[in-house]
Amino acid sequence: MSLRLYNTLTRSKEAFEPLDPNNVRMYVCGPTVYDYAHIGNARPAIVFDVLFRLLRHIYGPEHVTYVRNITDIDDKINARALELRGERNVDVLEVVRELTERTYAVYQQDVAALGNLPPTFMPRATEHVPQMIAMIRTLIDAGLAYEAEGHVLFDVAKKADYGKLSRRPLDEMIAGARVDVAPYKREAMDFVLWKPSDSTTPGWESPWGRGRPGWHIECSSMIEAAMGETIDIHGGGIDLVFPHHENEIAQSEGAHHGHPLARFWMHNGFLNVEGEKMSKSLGNFVTIHELLEDWPGDVLRFNMLRAHYRQPMDWTLAGMKESWATLERWYDVAEAVSAPRIGEGLLAALSDDLNTPLAIAELHKASLQELGGGLMLLGFNPMSERLASKKAVNKVEIARAIEARNAARKAKNFKESDRIRDELLAQGIQLKDGPEGTTWEVKR
Ligand code: AMP
Ligand code: ZN
Repeated sequence: MSLRLYNTLTRSKEAFEPLDPNNVRMYVCGPTVYDYAHIGNARPAIVFDVLFRLLRHIYGPEHVTYVRNITDIDDKINARALELRGERNVDVLEVVRELTERTYAVYQQDVAALGNLPPTFMPRATEHVPQMIAMIRTLIDAGLAYEAEGHVLFDVAKKADYGKLSRRPLDEMIAGARVDVAPYKREAMDFVLWKPSDSTTPGWESPWGRGRPGWHIECSSMIEAAMGETIDIHGGGIDLVFPHHENEIAQSEGAHHGHPLARFWMHNGFLNVEGEKMSKSLGNFVTIHELLEDWPGDVLRFNMLRAHYRQPMDWTLAGMKESWATLERWYDVAEAVSAPRIGEGLLAALSDDLNTPLAIAELHKASLQELGGGLMLLGFNPMSERLASKKAVNKVEIARAIEARNAARKAKNFKESDRIRDELLAQGIQLKDGPEGTTWEVKR
């Protein structure tokens, strides 16, 4: 079965052949660790995990390298650390370290609970600063970058094919990048490879003074360090095409005699919540962490995979409920499967640019053996206790049931209110009526 993947670089679906079938190499831009990740951030984690599993299935688990970095040098991190430090007399670098460690630990737990395998390597920016400095020197020596007032900038005019991934006209790029027009830049589009740090900002010694790398050079350097000049697949969300991935290409090709950085560029579409763009100000900002308090990770994973990864996706409560119902039904029967098998239909769907909605449709028609095998390939574990253990504490459902019971009591329909109480009790939920209203606890 041949694998076909949509390549953003060519805007078409192409047959995928790795450079070296004994070492298929994939890189996905990882989280910037200063806050809880939201459910949109879970999309690339899940989508590229499915691709990782499919590649392992095709080429053998030991022949696939998946790298997802940790962005622990970033101005949003620095700003948050200064805030956290407040008036305390502690080194802001200590606060940065504590913040990124803590945030990353939560991220690790959250993505593991969503059924994702750990990537082969998870390099940190802070551990690759010497490599970044070396790459920046190479770019300066090649005449592709210049130093100005403690900054080092990439000279976009020197890279003739700059813009080949995003294919945008220059003026649109300038608007899209919200580039700073700074006096030390030759052109507005030139982007930062290195910038100076003041005493309250993390910094490293460099030939250009104490400073820190720009975001784009972090990924270029970590890819080179972990996997060499050219990799097979580079992934991330669609918002990263420009400027982040465009700039990664400019840097890596510039430092590597024009050798391509990645042969396939893959981008997941954006996720909205209940029809609206997620934002802290709208109050619909949903973290993976809080969803996992109420929903089994497998349900969240399944809900994510019901949409094709390139399509925009609407994340809804109704969708999560449907996902839970389907998965519960499947787990009930698939638990008993003794000889799981991967069906042709499922494999064909996944091999066609990771068509997970079609793969799920195939599972609806599959034999029991194929259902079990398909679920496992997609990263679900019907044997796990995960679904069952959360069953008792679906807070959303419980709140609804309490509301319905209160309405029944108000209407003096005690038969109905008792029925609701007993139904919850049968699920292990004990209601308690008190002066503050009705509360509940899980009875074990
Ligand atoms: P960030 O930590 O903001 O750099 O994002 C980490 C990853 O999540 C990147 O690959 C982003 O493209 C992706 N991402 C961020 N927001 C969304 C969203 N709403 N829907 C889908 N992917 C997203
Ligand atoms: Zn990146």
